[in-house]
Amino acid sequence: MTFKAIRADKTDAGQTVGFVEMEESDLMDGDVTVRVTHSTVNYKDGLALSGKSAIPRRFPLVLGIDFAGIVESSTHPGFAAGDEVLLNGYGLGETHFGGYSERARVKGDWLVKLPPSWTPAEAMAVGTAGYTAALCVLAIEAAGVTPAQGPVVVTGAAGGVGSVAIALLAEAGWQVIASTGRASEAEYLKNLGAREIIDRATLSTPGKALGKERWAAGVDSVGSHTLANVLAQTRYGGVVAACGLAGGMDLPGSVAPFILRGVSLLGIDSVQCPMPPRLAAWARIARDLDRAMLARMTRTVPFAKTLEIGAQILAGQVRGRVVVEIG
Ligand code: NDP
Repeated sequence: MTFKAIRADKTDAGQTVGFVEMEESDLMDGDVTVRVTHSTVNYKDGLALSGKSAIPRRFPLVLGIDFAGIVESSTHPGFAAGDEVLLNGYGLGETHFGGYSERARVKGDWLVKLPPSWTPAEAMAVGTAGYTAALCVLAIEAAGVTPAQGPVVVTGAAGGVGSVAIALLAEAGWQVIASTGRASEAEYLKNLGAREIIDRATLSTPGKALGKERWAAGVDSVGSHTLANVLAQTRYGGVVAACGLAGGMDLPGSVAPFILRGVSLLGIDSVQCPMPPRLAAWARIARDLDRAMLARMTRTVPFAKTLEIGAQILAGQVRGRVVVEIG
């Protein structure tokens, strides 16, 4: 039996990305085979789908950095046929065949069982972007910074990480300041729980080494000058969780916030994140993320539209989250 997948191949002319028919025998090694029902388009997927990035680290490669679905067969002690599972990272869509495929064979050690009563579609509405937002929130809390110390700023607010971060932070009692380049999304961001909207242009150009102290914490998915300015305007003893590079991979700032205000920069990686914090992030999502709100920030598209959405996310045109129906 054949199944459909989006595969990156390398030829003398460069990378090609497109739909192919595959067979089970084409899949990579693993102890669990999953019927993938849903995936999603994260920013990193957009990069991979463009066929111009270094995300695929082997060829041919099935793309897609996450999936949710139903276990078909397993020799892993933790999983049995019929279990509903999700997978984020661990090299999926980078070194191991990914989620844009009706079938996946993976290591059971990478899988997470769906939170009770959650559907695979909801798990992918959260996706890697939302799970990373939860990691950011947990990192801020683990650093001991609380809403009593001041507001929190979220950059890239109308994107996937930003949208879920706003919802989780607002639920935890934070006064959320949302930084966006899309003024037209102010109402959307307020509905997620943002109290104040600021124009991202005020953060995206070179700023001072130290600015007015505006927030106690930050979740940054933009990087570059934006992250440098967020740090420079963080209150004494505050923290900033940095997880993204939508605005650039550089960090053109100064050490002043660290050495004069005791500000800490918390690095967030979702891909190799160990299982305990991974499970804690999903438990937090299941506990605190209102599923009706999640539905409002999510659009669902057929598998055939994946490449189109990939181009849109790189152009900053995707609001919130996109679920891809695979199976
Ligand atoms: P989205 O595209 O959904 O969100 C990114 C948002 O950033 C956009 O919606 C836009 O928000 C803002 N933005 C885009 N371009 C620029 C720009 N040039 N300058 C300033 N702001 C910009 O992506 P995701 O939420 O899926 O991912 C966000 C980032 O986080 C990506 O860089 C991604 O690679 C990274 N990431 C990292 C992970 C990790 O493990 N560390 C895991 C998941 C994501 P607005 O329109 O509101 O301004």
